[in-house]
Amino acid sequence: MSRLCLLLAFLIVSGTTAVAGYKEIVIPASCPPAIHSAARILAQKLALPDAAIQSVPQPGAPAPGQIVLTDSATPAEAALLGSTPKKVKLDGYAVIFKTGGALVYGARPRSLLFAAGDVNLWKNRGYGTYLRDPAFAIRAAAYNGHESVAEYVATMGVNIIIGKQADANPVTFKNSLPEVYAGLSKDDQQQLDWQSERVEQNAAEFAKECHDADVSYYPILYGNDFHLWSPILYQAVLKAYPSAQGTPALHSWEKATLCPSDPMTWKVIDAYVKEFAGKMHGDGLCITFWDHYGLYCQDDRCVKDGLNRFPNELQECVKHYHDVLAALGEKMIVRTWSSGVPHWYGDEWVHAPGNGGFSGEETNVWGRVIHELPPEIMLQTKVYDSDCQPDPPFSELLGHAHPHPEIAEYQITGQTTGRFYFPDADVDYLARTMTESCARVGPDGGVAVFPGGTEQSNYSVLNDILNSINLYAWRQLAWQADASVNRIWTDWAVPIYGERAAPFIIKALGLSEDVINKAFSPLGMGTDTNSGFPDSIQRRETLLKYTNRYFLPEYAPYLEPTRENIQQVVTQNKECLDEIDEMFRQLALAKPYLTQAQADELTTRFAWLKQFAIVNGALNESLWRYRYLRYQAAMLTTDPEQMKYLAQAYDTVKVHSQLLFQYDAGQKFSCYDVPLNELERKPSLGNPMPLMRQLYQNSEEYVEGIVGPDYLPPAWIR
Ligand SMILES: [Zn+2]
Repeated sequence: MSRLCLLLAFLIVSGTTAVAGYKEIVIPASCPPAIHSAARILAQKLALPDAAIQSVPQPGAPAPGQIVLTDSATPAEAALLGSTPKKVKLDGYAVIFKTGGALVYGARPRSLLFAAGDVNLWKNRGYGTYLRDPAFAIRAAAYNGHESVAEYVATMGVNIIIGKQADANPVTFKNSLPEVYAGLSKDDQQQLDWQSERVEQNAAEFAKECHDADVSYYPILYGNDFHLWSPILYQAVLKAYPSAQGTPALHSWEKATLCPSDPMTWKVIDAYVKEFAGKMHGDGLCITFWDHYGLYCQDDRCVKDGLNRFPNELQECVKHYHDVLAALGEKMIVRTWSSGVPHWYGDEWVHAPGNGGFSGEETNVWGRVIHELPPEIMLQTKVYDSDCQPDPPFSELLGHAHPHPEIAEYQITGQTTGRFYFPDADVDYLARTMTESCARVGPDGGVAVFPGGTEQSNYSVLNDILNSINLYAWRQLAWQADASVNRIWTDWAVPIYGERAAPFIIKALGLSEDVINKAFSPLGMGTDTNSGFPDSIQRRETLLKYTNRYFLPEYAPYLEPTRENIQQVVTQNKECLDEIDEMFRQLALAKPYLTQAQADELTTRFAWLKQFAIVNGALNESLWRYRYLRYQAAMLTTDPEQMKYLAQAYDTVKVHSQLLFQYDAGQKFSCYDVPLNELERKPSLGNPMPLMRQLYQNSEEYVEGIVGPDYLPPAWIR
C-alpha cells in the first residue's frame, strides 16, 4: 500500500462526520483509463475493496449505495441528468444524488478524477445536485513523483502536468544535422545515442501516464544556453559552424554561447527544439530563459541589428521556438520568471531584466513578445514581483499580456520560508493573490504551481500534515478563487486531525503565516534564497537586495540606518516570538485529541521554528545595529551603547544555535518516508555564528574607531 493510500485510509477512518453508505462504484465496461483510475481512487477514499468496482456494459441510474461514473451518459443516465451537462463549464463535473446513490457526470474523463479527489466535499450531501467547475481554464502543476499521475491529478485538480525536466539531453542531431553529428567522436556518438534512447523511453512512458489521466504533458526546456543543454554538441556545433559563436558582455551573469545574429545559430536552435520536443513526447513545451541564458551576445553584428538587447533577443528566440512547435502541432508555455532584482554576484552582474527598479519594466522586456508574436503563446508569470516569498508585492506583468493566455505561477516549496521544515501556512496570501490573479488573467487564463520542499530529501508536501494546507488551498482556490478561507481550513484540517483538535490546529497554523513572514522577512526585507543563514555581512546585504522590495518607495525607509528602524526590528521580533508562544498554547489545547505521532511531530517542528526565530531575530536586530553604527562612523561619530545589545545578541545566537533542529533519532514525520535519522539530507539551515561574529566584530571596530580601545565596559566585550 502506498503512503498516499495509507494517508487516505487514515483520513477516512479519522473523519468524524457520518460516512455515506456507498458500497459500489459502477463504471462503463469500455471506459477510458482515467475513469478506471477515478473509480480506484474513490474506492480507496471510501475504504472499499477493489471488488466494489463494477464494470457494466450500460450503466443506468444509480441504485441505493451506488456511485455511477460517466462522461457520456447512457439513456438511463441522461434521463436523470436532464440539463445538468449543459451547466457544467470547462472540465468540471456534477454529482446528482438519488435515493442513496450518486451519479457523477464529468465533462471529460479527467473530470471524474477531480470528482474522486473531491469526494470528501460531496459524499455526505445526499440530495440535489453538486456542481463544480474550475475558476481557471488552465491549471498546471509540476509533477514531483510521489504518487501516480492519476492520483496527483485527482488531488490537485489540474489539467496540465509540467515536467519532469529531462534528466539528460535527448538530442543527438544524428538525422537533423548530420554534419554536426559527424564531428563527434565515435564514443561521444554512442554516448549520445544511448542517452537519447533512455530519455525518450522514460518520456514516452510518462507522457502515456499523463494521457491516460486525460491531461496534457509539457516537458520543461530550461534556459537557452546551448552549452548547458549539451556541452558535447556545443563543441561540435562550433566546429561545424564557427560563425555561430557568441561574444559575451564583460562581467555579465548572462552568457553568449551562440550569436543570435548568425543564421547558423537558429538552424541549430530550431533543430534542437524540434528534436527535443519530438523525443519528449509532450503536448507542448514549457520554456524558461533566465538563469541559464545563452544569447546575450555583444559582437558588432548584434550591436548593429539590436539583437544585443533582451527584448529583441527574446522576441527572436520565442518566435523560433513557436514556429518549430507550431509545425509539430505543439503548444508553448513561456515562463517570464527572472531571478530577483539585479545585483552583483561575485564579479558578475545578474541583470534580472524586467524586475523593476534599475532593471527596467517587465512589460518592456516582454513587450515585443507580447505584441508581435502569435496570441496562442501562453505566458506564465510568477505572482511574486520579487521572485519569491514571503509576502511579496503582486507581479506588475500579470494582466498586461493580452491577447495571450496568461498563467499566474506559484512556487509552493518553502524555498525562502524555511524549506517547509517549519509550520508555514500561506493561505491568506494564496486567497488574496488568487482573487487578484482571477481578475487579471480572466477565466480563459490559468494558474500553475511548482510544489515540493526546497533542498529536502525524502519529502512529500502532499503528505505533510502541516504544509499540505498550502496545496489544498491552492487546489480549492484554483476552482473557486473566492472560496471561503475558513471552509478551506476546516475541510483540510478535520480529516487529518478530527473535529475536536481541528479548531486549535487551524488557529496555530493560521498564526504561522505571520510568524514566518516576520522570521524570514524583517520589515519586509527577504532572507536567503534557500532560507539558510548567510555566512557574511556581504552576502547578507546582497540578499537584502535579492529577495526584497527595497526599491519600492514604501520599503526603502526601512533600510535607513536609524534607531527607529532598529526598534522596529526589535518590536517585530518580540511580536513574532509572542505569536509562536500562542501557537504552542493552541497546540497544547489540541493535544488531548491528537495521535501521539501528530503531537510529537508538531511539538518538534514548532520548537524548530521557535529556535530559528530566536536566532534569526537576533541576527536581524544585529544587522540593523551594525548598519546604524557603520553610518554613524561615516559621520565621524558613534553610539557605544549599541555594543551592549550586540553582546546580548551574540550570547543569544551562541546558546540557541546549539538548540536548532533537535529531535529524537527514531522520530518519524508525516512528510518523510523514513525516520529523521535516516534522511539523506539532515534538517539544517546552516550555522549562524560566522555572521553573528562578523556583525559583532565589525560593529566593535566602528565604535572603537571613534571612542578608542578602552571605552567599552568589559561586560560588553565578546
Ligand atoms: Zn552576436
